[in-house]
Amino acid sequence: MAQGNRYDVLFEPVSIGPVTAKNRFYQVPHCCGMGHLRPRAHAAMRAVKAEGGWAVVSTEEAEIHPSSDLSPYSEQRIWDERDIPALRLMTDAVHEHGALAAIELVHNGHHASNLFSRIPPLAPTDMSLDSGYPKQARAMDKSDIRDLRRWHRQAARRAKEAGFDIVYVYAGHGMTLAQHFLLPEFNTRIDEYGGSLENRVRLVRELLEETKEEIGDSCAVAFRFAVDEMKGADGMQAHEEGRAVVELLAELPDLWDVNVSDWSNDSQTTRFAREDGYQIPYVEFVKGVTGKPVVAVSRLGSPDLMISLVKRGIVDFIGAARPSISDPFLPLKIEQDRIDEIRECIGCNICVSSDTLGVPIRCTQNPTMGEEWRRGWHPERIEPKRSEASALVVGAGPAGLECTMQLARRGYQVNLAEASDQLGGRALAESGLRGLSAWLRVRDNRAYELRQKANVDIFTGSELSVEQILELGIENIFLATGARWRVDGVGRSRRKAIAGLDSIQLFTPHDIMAGTALPDGPLVVYDDDQCYLGGVIADHLSAAGHDTAIVTPASVVSPWTSYTLEQERVQRTLLQQGVKIFANQTVTEVSQSGVVARCVFTGQKTDILCAALVLVTERLPETGLYRQLMQLRDPGGDPAAPLKVELIGDALAPGLIADAVFSGHLAARNFEADPDTIENALYRREMPSLSNPR
Ligand code: ADP
Ligand code: SF4
Repeated sequence: MAQGNRYDVLFEPVSIGPVTAKNRFYQVPHCCGMGHLRPRAHAAMRAVKAEGGWAVVSTEEAEIHPSSDLSPYSEQRIWDERDIPALRLMTDAVHEHGALAAIELVHNGHHASNLFSRIPPLAPTDMSLDSGYPKQARAMDKSDIRDLRRWHRQAARRAKEAGFDIVYVYAGHGMTLAQHFLLPEFNTRIDEYGGSLENRVRLVRELLEETKEEIGDSCAVAFRFAVDEMKGADGMQAHEEGRAVVELLAELPDLWDVNVSDWSNDSQTTRFAREDGYQIPYVEFVKGVTGKPVVAVSRLGSPDLMISLVKRGIVDFIGAARPSISDPFLPLKIEQDRIDEIRECIGCNICVSSDTLGVPIRCTQNPTMGEEWRRGWHPERIEPKRSEASALVVGAGPAGLECTMQLARRGYQVNLAEASDQLGGRALAESGLRGLSAWLRVRDNRAYELRQKANVDIFTGSELSVEQILELGIENIFLATGARWRVDGVGRSRRKAIAGLDSIQLFTPHDIMAGTALPDGPLVVYDDDQCYLGGVIADHLSAAGHDTAIVTPASVVSPWTSYTLEQERVQRTLLQQGVKIFANQTVTEVSQSGVVARCVFTGQKTDILCAALVLVTERLPETGLYRQLMQLRDPGGDPAAPLKVELIGDALAPGLIADAVFSGHLAARNFEADPDTIENALYRREMPSLSNPR
């Protein structure tokens, strides 16, 4: 432990039942799209967190039985003993770094559709599945409850055999049978498992007691519990039944892991929960009720807030999912008083979208996340330079900044040129929109590091031409010149231009971000990008007092944001602000008084009055410099042409900020690599084993 560090309190060991965590940093269970299908990737990802100083590193939810089958999503599985070797990869890797390994056992009840196992799903009461799959879960009878308890006990035994130190009972996120039994909304039973709170708590109590009985001699038993459903009087509330549950079970688990449900409330984005620590008002009562250690989350990234939460007796452990994803080395950086080097989570939920899409985890701030095993990437280490070559990066948006930072970490001499007088590109521009201010951390964290480096020269206010690039005489050029929004209306759903655009005042997202003056009168935002920005711009304009309508061919506003758990909040906010929503409508032409929208199903026309149109449809990569430089390299071209010219980020293929950061990172890693290595090392894959026919 560092001596005299004002953060010492965060590095005190804490006992959890029979085991001891070396400090207070606790990576709570979080999904990662790896699960049972990608065990090596999973183990390597968790190991990096253990290396970064987290005292406890948890799995995602681990299905205990085929009747809790979340396919096609890949969570953990501990259905039988055949799952043990894959899980042991993780516990061994985590133990190597002196951390404790935790597993979150789960039965998902009617949240699991059992599409793989085809077992009729289970629930306290007969009810529809929450996945939308056209099937119902059946009410469990007493023998089903006995089976469930037996499965949980067996899974706990296997977890111990797999090397886990902490084993969870999980009643949270609206996704688990243990929680469904607690909630009258789902549990309308009239036997001893339904009705009074004591009866509804019975199953959780049995699971906790039996897990302790089975493995409690050497493993800690944690209870993850959502104290509040954030539905007001329609659901469980922290200061009513939520508190009563904690009182009834106070000393039974070895650790309370408390949060709010559902997942969209637990993992709120900075767009809707601006402050870190947004869950604290809900969970702060827990430590007053139990003598057992408590862990809580809510994007806790600020060391000062962490200290205050511990000192005020609100938590014993600093729980984190997202801050541990954006910076797996957060604990170590705090311990070594390298606070400025922490890569802060921006609360964008791109990490969440990987799980909701069923692919390995990715992160806007940490491009190595999810690539630990398959590409061998590490968040703090990168291969040193191979030569004395120098590089020029053009454009200081997310791609250019990341590429420059990683080239500089490798030891290369790098010049970074940016046309505008500020760094940040779209991260800077978008952070000026309502709700996105935290996104500026993408720039700030990188700009801070670059300014410390002697081998980086930054030139702002430098819009480079081909001639200027040639004059510099640098042989390796990375073009991170970004993309511009289309002004013809071509977008995701319609590949034709909107007719008559020259007779209306037209604006792009770029104009809105630049604060261009808008006319008085109603505005139409036409969103055929259907990602997040159309909804952000409509929100921004209406909050600034403009009479705003949003027209989209999609059936809801910003459909992509369902993957980041934000869609309902986006739509609610717009409706509450009086934004008129025209869904299932394509803008096809401009009329005398505004625009004409057509129903995507019937073609029926609607006239929408407006003074100006904001087109959020599609982007065109800025490839002018690239094309000119490549021409110079054609046979018979300029002998002074640079050796290497590479497009990165949005200039290569417009996407999310996360994609641009990843692209910049990849280019820097691949710089001067042997071409065969680049070709062959696209990434490793986990192949299904053909050796086990059971
Ligand atoms: P990405 O998301 O790929 O990083 P951005 O659009 O955020 O892309 O950033 C592109 C940056 O490149 C912008 O800040 C823009 O000002 C800058 N840029 C574009 N062309 C030039 C140029 N010729 N010289 C210097 N900077 C440029
Ligand atoms: Fe944070 Fe976004 Fe990274 Fe998730 S993807 S950890 S929300 S920065």
